[in-house]
Amino acid sequence: MKIHHLDCGRMHPILPRLVLGPVAEAHRHLVCHCLLIETPRDGLILVDSGYGTADCAHPRERLGRFFLSIARPELRLEATALAQVQALGFDPADVRHIILTHLDVDHAGGLPDFPDATVHVMARELEAARTARGRHRLRYRPASWAHQPRWHLHDDPAGERWAGFEAVRPLPGVDPDVLLVPLAGHSPGHCGVAVKAAAGGWMLHAGDAYFHRGIVRPEAGRPTAGLWIFETFTQWRADARRRNQSALRALAADEASDVAIFCAHDAVELSRFHPEGPSPQLLR
Ligand SMILES: [Zn+2]
Repeated sequence: MKIHHLDCGRMHPILPRLVLGPVAEAHRHLVCHCLLIETPRDGLILVDSGYGTADCAHPRERLGRFFLSIARPELRLEATALAQVQALGFDPADVRHIILTHLDVDHAGGLPDFPDATVHVMARELEAARTARGRHRLRYRPASWAHQPRWHLHDDPAGERWAGFEAVRPLPGVDPDVLLVPLAGHSPGHCGVAVKAAAGGWMLHAGDAYFHRGIVRPEAGRPTAGLWIFETFTQWRADARRRNQSALRALAADEASDVAIFCAHDAVELSRFHPEGPSPQLLR
């Protein structure tokens, strides 16, 4: 399957030095790393949807003032998944499945741009989003799913052990080389998505299971204090989040592994998948 790596929402967070650390100018921002997968049988699959066209048109109403003041997304129409799908020469109606790592607004904002797609998410994530109280109302924005998507909800636990993770399973009706990898911790139904690459090996989109590449690959640099504060502030359960991170670290350190791991927001990781970047193998 051919996999396109898209940035569907560049962000310039407040306190950039504290959040991003010492990093080259080209990577001095956060990204919304989404995947567009061309499948032989199931049309196009989108993994996460970034910000959508409605977020660009009505940022305050859709994203909320607090989120806008912290994350400071650029919100350019041409960066939306819809525009990038079209720019690649595809019909947006061919996006038949959207698989969400979770329902935070920076991952689900693009859903309304693909109203006919089946949206895969963990059942307990949708439940958490629908019943959010207090500070969690800042992350989940019901406008992202007010158009009533065709949900396909996934229960846990179901599935098998894969690459050190439990309850991993293919998604019914979707190419079997796409796997849902439960990684609850950042949010109650957070999960990763593994995809078998055409060139061999696997890609593991770990969503917001971590924010800085140094969490998973210590040789890639020290995780920043700003991202640590952010992931602690937004987490659902610290123990589960740390367990996931140590499993991801073990997988990245495994010389025999053929899994390239990346998270949703690290610009350096995304650059590894651009044609001019270093080999994705560096992300093992
Ligand atoms: Zn996120």
